Amino acid sequence: MSHEELPVAARVRRLEERVVDAGLTTDDELDAMLDELLDGASPVNGARMAARAWTDPAYRELMLADGNAAADQLGFPAQGYRLRVVENTPELHNVIVCTLCSCYPVSLLGPSPGWYKSFAYRSRVVREPRAVLAEFGLAVPDDVAIAVWDASAETRYLVLPRRPEGEYSEEELAALVTRQGLVGTAAI
Ligand code: FE
Repeated sequence: MSHEELPVAARVRRLEERVVDAGLTTDDELDAMLDELLDGASPVNGARMAARAWTDPAYRELMLADGNAAADQLGFPAQGYRLRVVENTPELHNVIVCTLCSCYPVSLLGPSPGWYKSFAYRSRVVREPRAVLAEFGLAVPDDVAIAVWDASAETRYLVLPRRPEGEYSEEELAALVTRQGLVGTAAI
């Protein structure tokens, strides 16, 4: 009941993998096509939420308490599921996954990339997050714990990265945030 979309999403992914394996297209090409289809659904939205949280303590409070309300306040749609924002700290790094398929806040992060939907990522990030993050080029120090959040159709996650050091405007901060930072496979 928590994954009514699973059969469809899993079948779509299987088809995507067959088309990619046959050399007809690539995951990047498929991602670019979906980017066009889903106009307005972009990681720029999630980045703007993060930048606002870093510059407005009240917004940060709202974002951590009620992610849907925080998205709504900036005019971004995040409906039909509960959005939970998890904050990186000096002691804790967060990373998100959907172990069953690919649940993910598309309106705030853009279409999920091929690797997010891949069986390798979904199965391994839970068992060995530190090793998987290292493969993404993110070395999480041993004294920093890693929390892996498993999304579902009802609850989806967004990572609030740590604010970079330095004097930046909200606009400049937003430009520094990447989709991978908001998924937790990059620092920012
Ligand atoms: Fe899912």
